[in-house]
Amino acid sequence: LFDRAELAPADPILGLTEAYNADTRPEKVNLGVGVYLGEDGKLPLMEAVRAAEERITQQRRAKAYLGIDGMPAYRDAVRELIFGADSSALADARVATVQSLGGTGALKIGADLLRQLSPEATVLISNPSWENHRALFTRAGFDVETYRYYDAGIKGIDFDGMLEDLRAAEPGTVVVLHACCHNPTGYDLGSEQWDAVIEVLAERQLIPFLDMAYQGFGFGIEEDGAVVAKFVDSGLNFLLSTSYSKSFSLYGERIGSLSVVLDSAESAKKVLSQLKIVIRTNYSNPPTEGAALVTTVLTDPDLRQSWEDELGAMRERIKDLRKGLVDGLASRGITDMGFIAEQLGMFSYSGLTKEQMVALRTEHGVYGLDSGRMCVAALNTGNLDYVADAIAAVRAS
Ligand code: PMP
Repeated sequence: LFDRAELAPADPILGLTEAYNADTRPEKVNLGVGVYLGEDGKLPLMEAVRAAEERITQQRRAKAYLGIDGMPAYRDAVRELIFGADSSALADARVATVQSLGGTGALKIGADLLRQLSPEATVLISNPSWENHRALFTRAGFDVETYRYYDAGIKGIDFDGMLEDLRAAEPGTVVVLHACCHNPTGYDLGSEQWDAVIEVLAERQLIPFLDMAYQGFGFGIEEDGAVVAKFVDSGLNFLLSTSYSKSFSLYGERIGSLSVVLDSAESAKKVLSQLKIVIRTNYSNPPTEGAALVTTVLTDPDLRQSWEDELGAMRERIKDLRKGLVDGLASRGITDMGFIAEQLGMFSYSGLTKEQMVALRTEHGVYGLDSGRMCVAALNTGNLDYVADAIAAVRAS
């Protein structure tokens, strides 16, 4: 039987990390993975998370099972974070929310639910999108196609193309949208563009699936959440996955959420019951630690303030790093990469070609994706000049 299993290609991003780890050059820099690193080049343990962890340890709780849909206090806390305390959808009890295994887990639960409800639907993802969107929805059984998003010619969004593709989609098509800090391009829609997209989604009866893995990394928690509020105000039914991997630096805890916003409390109850079946038949119920940490931070005013301040500092530091890289490149004669400072979130779509990205890796030990994506959140003042030198060198050759 197992002879039938063919060797699958290695995950392109994790494969890159393996190559980076095997590289013996001390000056090597890993800009491949999507994690935020501090000035010391290490993953931060956020102060509020550390304090929450201490409290939880002191409580010495037994390790009971959580409910299928997760920790109730966690669901309440993240719903407030995502939708805002005054959200009409929450007041009307027409949101079904479950705790998930990170953002990926939320996407998969949502994909499985959609597949069950609408097996023939097509899923549209942006071109380009986070690598795992295509794989995940394909594996869930969908045909996955793309809508136009990034235009390399203008180094920005092909908005007309995007609208045209959405207008051409069949009713019932699932449309995956990055709520903020688009991965991999770093280009987000503006407020009026979101309005126009929402109009087309409603007109064409498309099913929006918002993916919000970076709330707080664009302009702020509330500012980034404004897109979600727009969708609620539109009256559309939609799915929303969130991840706390980045915003709480809790990558390994696998903590996120899936919400489905519906017309009525009655529908929310039904959808929640279906989500629970998806979860029950996959992993039964989620783990406790990440939910306890996020809940403790969000519900304690001091810890919450500390977390918001630290997240704000991370956001501002990424912006400084972007600017530092642009300035560094300009001082080396490269003046056409200023767009890096305009992009949002952890990533920069550098516009470098595959050949240049390979040269960065092989000749300089600077690891980014072949698509040109670099994680600017992995830069620091110690490696920035080296990276600017390396980019200048591959641009010159
Ligand atoms: N969606 C997007 C757009 C992402 O960039 C990521 C993380 N790279 C995820 C979802 C998944 O998040 P998590 O690591 O919490 O599963």
